[in-house]
Amino acid sequence: MKNNIKQFCFPSTAKEAAGLMARLGKAAVVVAGGTRHTRSISPAVETVIDISDLPLRHIKADADGLRIGALCTISDLEKSPLLAKWAGGVIAKTAGMGSNALARGMGTVGGNVVRPHPYNNLPAAFLALDAEAVFTDGRKEDKLPFAEMIAGADTLLFGHKYLLTELRVPAGTRSWRACAMRLSLTKSSWSSYAQVVAALDLRGGTVRKAAVAVSAVLPKAARIAAAERCLVGRPAGELASREAADAAAAALSSLTAGAESRAYGVRMAGVLVRRALMEAIGS
Ligand SMILES: Cc1cc2nc3c(=O)[nH]c(=O)nc-3n(C[C@H](O)[C@H](O)[C@H](O)COP(=O)(O)OP(=O)(O)OC[C@H]3O[C@@H](n4cnc5c(N)ncnc54)[C@H](O)[C@@H]3O)c2cc1C
Repeated sequence: MKNNIKQFCFPSTAKEAAGLMARLGKAAVVVAGGTRHTRSISPAVETVIDISDLPLRHIKADADGLRIGALCTISDLEKSPLLAKWAGGVIAKTAGMGSNALARGMGTVGGNVVRPHPYNNLPAAFLALDAEAVFTDGRKEDKLPFAEMIAGADTLLFGHKYLLTELRVPAGTRSWRACAMRLSLTKSSWSSYAQVVAALDLRGGTVRKAAVAVSAVLPKAARIAAAERCLVGRPAGELASREAADAAAAALSSLTAGAESRAYGVRMAGVLVRRALMEAIGS
């Protein structure tokens, strides 16, 4: 495909990168790992802002929780000893669901969540763990709930006006029981019929907090509140998990307006919700 790229910029700070984005507007594009850009650069773009040199490739924890730099590759997450122990290792396991080693080695967390294709694996995990997105416009740093970043009014400003710098996961989720599951044609298929991440905060066998996030079935990953309501305040077990699964299937059927093309995915999402919950409880 023809492109009109005239220059590459290699900023060394997030502030400098966001400043370039603000100055160049639609004539520039931000590239991290580049796995989503190869076929989709607009002819209006004359400058590529390559952010791969920014110091945003950290995975660490402090008193507030987990901090994951936007330039971590998906493999970094998959191999992180810290993530292996956080919430049943659900972020690391979700990262490992990526279809092939090349895309996991090049693709970054930022690229995965800023333009979240329905099949992208990571958004559901960050939604389930109540993550926050930290970003800059070059003048100041700000943050907002991850759910708002992917579904709110400003979502399309990421990658144009806002540079995502970090995802933060609250400290309290460290001990949550969690499990991710996806169903696709083959293990290495990118497109899946359904993906589910279930996360539970259990106290004495009772569910204090519950998160059920679903992707692939919907255009964007989303939490399914009706399923979560079936779990909170109840003993963690088969009965509540079955009810949550039924509630999830009913909510998804309504959200997809009963579309025939989504019927299988919706049905399977219900099955995955029950299985993910039971595995999280047993973990
Ligand atoms: C063959 C193949 C298989 C794949 N399989 C999977 C799979 O199984 N699961 C899966 O989840 N994904 C998969 N992907 C998708 C892709 O690898 C991921 O979405 C990847 O994480 C994208 O990251 P990137 O760094 O390459 O993004 P880029 O292509 O560099 O950028 C993508 C978009 O995000 C913007 N952006 C990137 N970083 C930032 C930032 N920090 N702040 C603001 N904007 C930013 C860019 O401007 C661009 O619009 C696959 C891709 C390919 C090519």
